[in-house]
Amino acid sequence: MAIGLKRQHETTTVTKRPAQVQTKDQGTQCGLSKGSYGREKEHRKWRYDNLVARLNDKEMLIEWLMEEGLLTKSQKCSVCEGDMQLVKCNDRSDGVKWECRKRIGQKRHKAEWSVRRGSWFAESRMTVEEILKFTYWWCQDLDQAQIRHEMGVAINTGVDWDSFCQEVCEVTLFENSMRIGGPGKIVQIDKSKFGKRKYHRGHRLEEQWVFGGIESDSRKSFLIAVERRDEETLLPIIQKWIEPGTTIISHCWKAYCNLEKYGYTHKTVNHSKEFVNDDGDCTNKIEGHW
Ligand SMILES: [Zn+2]
Repeated sequence: MAIGLKRQHETTTVTKRPAQVQTKDQGTQCGLSKGSYGREKEHRKWRYDNLVARLNDKEMLIEWLMEEGLLTKSQKCSVCEGDMQLVKCNDRSDGVKWECRKRIGQKRHKAEWSVRRGSWFAESRMTVEEILKFTYWWCQDLDQAQIRHEMGVAINTGVDWDSFCQEVCEVTLFENSMRIGGPGKIVQIDKSKFGKRKYHRGHRLEEQWVFGGIESDSRKSFLIAVERRDEETLLPIIQKWIEPGTTIISHCWKAYCNLEKYGYTHKTVNHSKEFVNDDGDCTNKIEGHW
């Protein structure tokens, strides 16, 4: 899962008691014996109830997030470089923080860090529970307005976290890009714009256009950042990433009108949602898979 820690910290001594969170199947009323009511696969899916159960106890929630690698299990002190202690606190919604009060010579220092440092939850005013709920609903394809309604968060917060989630998907797609298609294969291509970044704070790339394709049966895909969206830019990318003989489906025709000349079959999605803006550029709603 891409929503993890930015940097892997070396795990040294973990002084905490072992996690008590039961991660194995607990059983259900209908029983989990193999083949029971055909739920063998179904019961492994993560559901909202599973999430809510995790949110009941803050201490266990933090432990679980550490076990899952969503929060770091150890933190080094920036003053003495020793291991920090995880201590309870009332001044943070997390209920715990990293702290070091070691003595160097005669001098005792005090250093502290948030448990969220370097994680998906860092630098947000939302509670960890709220961020988990937002992320869960986003992954379930609820749109931003629906999530805002459920959570009562401000528009700006909703817009930001929508972008953060989108960015994780984008990074995952970039990293897993591969050459796709071939005779008998169908590849849908699309371009889209990405907004504000969470992980690239400080040098925000506003209005970054990306271009990508996805193989309809396997879901294999590629995603490339592009400066321009004309045929001169996109055709070489298509040739690099999509095998000849592929049936390519695009939302609009412009910029792809010569695909047939290069050994592809080209079809457009025929729908009424296609608009042409003032630049003569074809636009469409960002599709769910980007
Ligand atoms: Zn220290």
